[in-house]
Amino acid sequence: MATIFTKIINREIPASIVFENDKVIAFKDINPQAPVHILVVPKKEIPTLNDIDVQDSEYILAMYLAIKDIARDLGISENGYRIITNCNTHGGQEVFHLHFHLLGGKPLGPMLTF
Ligand code: AMP
Repeated sequence: MATIFTKIINREIPASIVFENDKVIAFKDINPQAPVHILVVPKKEIPTLNDIDVQDSEYILAMYLAIKDIARDLGISENGYRIITNCNTHGGQEVFHLHFHLLGGKPLGPMLTF
């Protein structure tokens, strides 16, 4: 069954899209955790980071290049930002279609406290 992100790629459900090319789509997270919170998603249904393969390298590279361009276009490159990929239960993954969270727009503080 198609993931919610594939439905966004296929324009079956709406999203606030900020970037798109043949390999990647990026849109605003519906529940933002920072002033800038963008999801960067490959146009291939890779469920988790555990599932990537060398054949996916062009998608992975495209995701990083998209992040660079989006950060520049949204004016957060110089101050900086954070990217996160959650994987499976301990990572808190909710959508099983590989993605980066791009977070920025304010100092983000320590990565984790435990
Ligand atoms: P993760 O927990 O890493 O799988 O992150 C999934 C993210 O997708 C969460 O931050 C959600 O807020 C976000 N999300 C879920 N549905 C949508 C949607 N329709 N449009 C935008 N973001 C969404």
